[in-house]
Amino acid sequence: MTPPLPSSSGTAPWEPIPAASPPDPRVAAALEALWAECDRRLADLGVQCRACGQCCDFPRRGHVLFAMKAELDVCLDWARRHLATDPRDVRRRLDAGLCPFQDGPRCRIHPVRPLGCRIFFCKTGDAAQLERLAADLHDRLRSIVRDNELLQWYGPALAYIKAIWPPPTHPI
Ligand code: SF4
Ligand code: SF4
Repeated sequence: MTPPLPSSSGTAPWEPIPAASPPDPRVAAALEALWAECDRRLADLGVQCRACGQCCDFPRRGHVLFAMKAELDVCLDWARRHLATDPRDVRRRLDAGLCPFQDGPRCRIHPVRPLGCRIFFCKTGDAAQLERLAADLHDRLRSIVRDNELLQWYGPALAYIKAIWPPPTHPI
């Protein structure tokens, strides 16, 4: 999905950034099924990520991770239930423009990382096939959000997490 362009007024289209909300279990299940399908279809295309973590280093790669609010709410909820995280470390990483879920090369929320993390590939695979796959999966993601009458917010993942940090009821 192409990131939205800033409007002529200079306001980013993802502003204002909404508050995080606990995910509906049906939505979480639908997203987990979509992510699993994404992984299967990538494997069918013979695409392999060696999990070096380089593309997660946003400042170095000049890369912005976009995600939908529904995905990020599932990520945050999963992280809250499964990770022991120092909130000050999360703050430090966010302030440095780094993903708060990365630990060395490792993704600490690997099972629930957003679509944007799954379909970014540095070199392997047929670019046209990967683009078609990404477009299809993003359409399906939007359908899940629309069918469940959720907010269709799509924007920079770090800006979303940063805006709600430190969350009073929904900590990582
Ligand atoms: S997509 Fe490429 S850069 Fe990113 S983790 Fe996988 S192998 Fe590394
Ligand atoms: S969520 Fe995981 S895969 Fe995505 S940028 Fe962060 S560490 Fe990398």
